[in-house]
Amino acid sequence: MPRTFGAIKAVILDLDDTLYDCSGTLVHSRRLKAAGVIANAIGCSEKEAYQLQNDLDESSSVSGDLYEEIARRYSLPAGFMEEINRKFSEVGIGGIKPFAGVTDTLKKLKKEGILLFLVTAGKPEEQEKKVRVLGLDGLFDETTLLDTTAVGADTKKACFKEILDSRHLKAEEVLCVGDRMDRELKVAKELGIPTAMVRHGRHYRRFSSNSTGDNEEAPDTYIESVADLPRILDR
Ligand SMILES: [Mg+2]
Repeated sequence: MPRTFGAIKAVILDLDDTLYDCSGTLVHSRRLKAAGVIANAIGCSEKEAYQLQNDLDESSSVSGDLYEEIARRYSLPAGFMEEINRKFSEVGIGGIKPFAGVTDTLKKLKKEGILLFLVTAGKPEEQEKKVRVLGLDGLFDETTLLDTTAVGADTKKACFKEILDSRHLKAEEVLCVGDRMDRELKVAKELGIPTAMVRHGRHYRRFSSNSTGDNEEAPDTYIESVADLPRILDR
């Protein structure tokens, strides 16, 4: 039974694997493309190369970029990363759709006066395009696109703090919703912001398979979908 929250005035939402299926669409397609490059570079089958990407991603020992890690492990030349990025650019994002019920749920929350913040990390132009393709632009009171390709890119913590300060919100009046513990729900918890984890995608799977059940590393509640928010917010 998920915990309910009463006094929430604002919701901070993540994008990838929170509002739409990123792991099952874009990530899957990119891994299929990358498999050919990796297979050539390290001398294995494409099937093995696809599996290698999944295995490294699910492994808690790999924290940085998956492909940089493969390049490091197999001492691959700089051209490897260029080829990976070229392959990635062939995967269009035109086909992505919000999870069922997401758009209506956000509209409902907005109508009830709940502030909605989108905080997403990645390549800003790409993240912005995803929001447009999903038809979600205009639904958020504020959108923050964190550039994780920038040198010294930080977690979402400073951004969450800025939202609290600029909107004069207390941490307990905000709910942070995402699929990822590290760099996302964890830093919200550090600020005292309640957290809801969406049970979806590769980050959730990695978290749930490595989780020790330690409370410090657990969200306040789990949801199957953003469409569950009105229920846990008592709306
Ligand atoms: Mg995400």
